[in-house]
Amino acid sequence: MRRVDRALAIDLGGTKILVGVVNHRGQISDLARESVDLSNGYKGLVRQMVRLTQPLVAKHKLRSGAVAAAGPLDPVRGLLLNPTNLKGGDKFWGVSPIVRDISRALKIPVRLENDAAAAALAESWIGEARRYKNLAIVTLGTGLGLGIIANGTLVRAGQNLHTEGGHITLNYLEKEWQCGCGNYGCAEAYLSGANFTKNLSRLWGRHNLQGHEVVAAARAGEADALRAFDEYGKKLGYFLYSQVMLFAPEVVVLSGGFSNAYDLFLKRTESHLGNLLKMHRVGVDMLPKLKISKFRDEAGLLGAAFVALNA
Ligand SMILES: [Zn+2]
Repeated sequence: MRRVDRALAIDLGGTKILVGVVNHRGQISDLARESVDLSNGYKGLVRQMVRLTQPLVAKHKLRSGAVAAAGPLDPVRGLLLNPTNLKGGDKFWGVSPIVRDISRALKIPVRLENDAAAAALAESWIGEARRYKNLAIVTLGTGLGLGIIANGTLVRAGQNLHTEGGHITLNYLEKEWQCGCGNYGCAEAYLSGANFTKNLSRLWGRHNLQGHEVVAAARAGEADALRAFDEYGKKLGYFLYSQVMLFAPEVVVLSGGFSNAYDLFLKRTESHLGNLLKMHRVGVDMLPKLKISKFRDEAGLLGAAFVALNA
């Protein structure tokens, strides 16, 4: 008999919280979502998470849980490290012991994992990357997240940190498109859905252009929009080339809201990546399969569940 057959899972995003109970097959029940309440600071957020999850722990007699959250964070020590997208107004929270605080309130052990790492674990467990030992997942949303599993093991960076692939420099000559990290020419500054749209908004002189408008323009065959997606696909190819050279994933899974527009860039990414890798296809073929995640927005939740079930 399994030691734990279901667990509490929490996905803490910058704007919304998802909570649910997930069994060992990855089936979700009692799913609930709420906007993140930042009005009462870190303590208020902890209260909100406890209010949402306490009834689930009691109802299902849960004995473990995990939180997937956007970094920077330390999963080993269970700390949020001054999170950039969780703060009230301009006030940063500093180092916040979220694992200690939630575990104490719920009276069960709760773990913490980076959301991109959680998404990689979810894809490898029951998603598009199951049966593969080497995979990369790239989340294309507000930011650009990267999660790597190499030889069956989740790759961590040093000092308990997570690989920050979004801040790989794609263009050191860039002077205009500034990344959220303060530097210019980062992969995230071009490839996150939010930045792609923001850059076009400036380029086209269209104030407050929305992502879905760019997608609609490209699907309607407008030349400017098609060119923008062609360039996007090529840049994504360069970004993936770096990951292939470092980690040799057999499969790359794209997820996040912007991956829904894959019909507009994926062919270009595939062909460009194939060109870049043409010298690396003899003996071992390094060209990975590119797939689109089937999870809607529950990859972080499922990854958190995987962490809790396998703790
Ligand atoms: Zn950056």
